[in-house]
Amino acid sequence: MGRLIAQFECELADRHRSNGDVEAARAAVVRAYAADPTSVRAGILEGRIEAETGNTQAAIRALERAARHDPDFLPVILPSLLENYEKVGERTGAWAFLAGMCEHYRGISPVLALTRMLEAEEGVGAARRYLAQQLKDRPSVRGEAALIDLSLADDADAAATLHDLKHITDQLLVRNPSYRCNRCGFGARSHHWQCPSCKEWGTVKPLLNYAVV
Ligand SMILES: [Zn+2]
Repeated sequence: MGRLIAQFECELADRHRSNGDVEAARAAVVRAYAADPTSVRAGILEGRIEAETGNTQAAIRALERAARHDPDFLPVILPSLLENYEKVGERTGAWAFLAGMCEHYRGISPVLALTRMLEAEEGVGAARRYLAQQLKDRPSVRGEAALIDLSLADDADAAATLHDLKHITDQLLVRNPSYRCNRCGFGARSHHWQCPSCKEWGTVKPLLNYAVV
């Protein structure tokens, strides 16, 4: 119930925000938090409202809190968070937060943000080495694309780059399910005529995953 009320208040806040009524928008965000203290959407909205009114530090605090409440939403939160970090030009806090997020979120987006920060501070070679290392435990197609860009920019050893990419691609092929049950969503690496999870027959099919097939 609290979550539904929070979503409703966030809808109101967003409407007030686009109508330029900042105080009404802030009040609706406060009510959303009261209904659901871990509301990610309320945090994102608060961040947006504070960023638009020039309170960059408050925006950063709200967005970081939203990401801590549910790290799965990090890819949604990260673009505006990075924009606000950029505005204040403060690197240490941003680095610490993103590095902490890497512990709680298995996707590649915090690593790519750290890679861009490293590139700006220490150059393309340091960024390439860091990313290649991270991709060993966190294989990702987006990460591979970034690694290729950095390797081209760094004029890196082509054989070593191919070796890294081969290792990452092998990991991707091993880790991604190739089959999924269209009844219960169970993912598998080999085909089963009977779903091992929901026991239905003929519902497990090859998955059209563009990262893998
Ligand atoms: Zn199933």
